[in-house]
Amino acid sequence: MTHRARPRTRWITAATALLAAVAALAGGTGSGTAEAAAPGQRTQHIEYFAGPAAEPRQVSVPARPAEHDQAARRPARQAAVPAVRPLERTGPVSGRLDLVVMGDGYTADEQGDFAADAEEKLDAIFAVEPYRSYRGLFNVWLVDTVSAESGVSGDPTADVGKDTALGSAFFCDGLERLLCVDTDAVARYARLAPDADIVFVVANSAKYGGAGYSTADLPPTSPFHGVATMSSDNERSYLIGAHELGHSIGKLADEYQYPGYGAYPYAEEPATANLTLTRDPATAKWSRWAGVQDPTGSIVGTYEGGGYYETGIHRPTDTSLMRSLASPEFNVVGREAMIAGFYAYADALTSPVPTTEPVRGNRPIPVRLAPLTGLADLHLTWYVDGREVPWAAGARVVTPHALGVHGHGHRVTATVTDRSAALRNPVALARATNSLTWTIR
Ligand SMILES: [Zn+2]
Repeated sequence: MTHRARPRTRWITAATALLAAVAALAGGTGSGTAEAAAPGQRTQHIEYFAGPAAEPRQVSVPARPAEHDQAARRPARQAAVPAVRPLERTGPVSGRLDLVVMGDGYTADEQGDFAADAEEKLDAIFAVEPYRSYRGLFNVWLVDTVSAESGVSGDPTADVGKDTALGSAFFCDGLERLLCVDTDAVARYARLAPDADIVFVVANSAKYGGAGYSTADLPPTSPFHGVATMSSDNERSYLIGAHELGHSIGKLADEYQYPGYGAYPYAEEPATANLTLTRDPATAKWSRWAGVQDPTGSIVGTYEGGGYYETGIHRPTDTSLMRSLASPEFNVVGREAMIAGFYAYADALTSPVPTTEPVRGNRPIPVRLAPLTGLADLHLTWYVDGREVPWAAGARVVTPHALGVHGHGHRVTATVTDRSAALRNPVALARATNSLTWTIR
């Protein structure tokens, strides 16, 4: 059982946790945690969402206690091998972002509820741009984790303990809305899916809550880049998942700040796309968007405050999904970084014909374009030895002979470019080009 009414270490001040989080952001190792935790105690930095309209914040909590880990290994639970099923399959694992959703606090009889809850969360997240337009770059896998008891610990009150597959618990480290999970257990289950780039844990609960774990604080062997937890029946909790993917896919910084946290202390320009030291929008890294009317409601410029600091650092818009969950939209700078992130993991162009072996000149080469919509604007072109074949543009299947290729060693290339108006940064545009090249024999 995972009764865990009381934190296992002393409460860590927000300032200490923030320093650690900022150190981690700056590329440090988060050494602030070592002194905050008991000797030998592993800690995790987690993003905490006090409410649907509250600004998130970073906290540092002890990693899940060992007793849950042992509970998760009990024979009774291992008897049931969880099923993995594709909820959405748009392309090969190698060419897609693979999102794995697992439930916690769902008994064997409640697996149908889990599937319905998972679909509802995903539909809400994929209603937000640019997830909406780029849904076709995702595969979604459901893992049917079976819990001994229905519901999760800490719901409705801190003294409630439930025996669940992933050890989800509200009141994590004393914070009511912080929904922690045993990330080691999550990693074990995630390995059952064909691939896991990102994991969502949906906890069977009507209480508002969730959490975001970033790569640095996951178990070292985790195959995935982030974990977001969210409660099942709260209609605003999906924004936690939408925000967390902003970090894990878009590598976006938090755009919020803390009162009294003062001036940004670093001289170096942040690596993230959505924070800058530059005060002048005309020379900021997002200058291509300066003056644009943004989906979040403001004009793109340089708004002071972000990355937890109040001054000396700027964000692109007054508010956004990376600043507050009260704003359900990314700004255009965030959108662009997200799309670039999608393409870092996924390819809009795939083909069943492998590029690893030479192909015959009369062999048809079919290609597939990811089913993208809205903001996406895909263009397919063909090249022979690097020279474009204009008449073949848009052709979904060609033969080398039809392209005029005869003889050994020539190369046929298919290139898909996304000319989305949501992309202006040359680095993002470069990411949005995918090519496949075959050698002809
Ligand atoms: Zn965040």
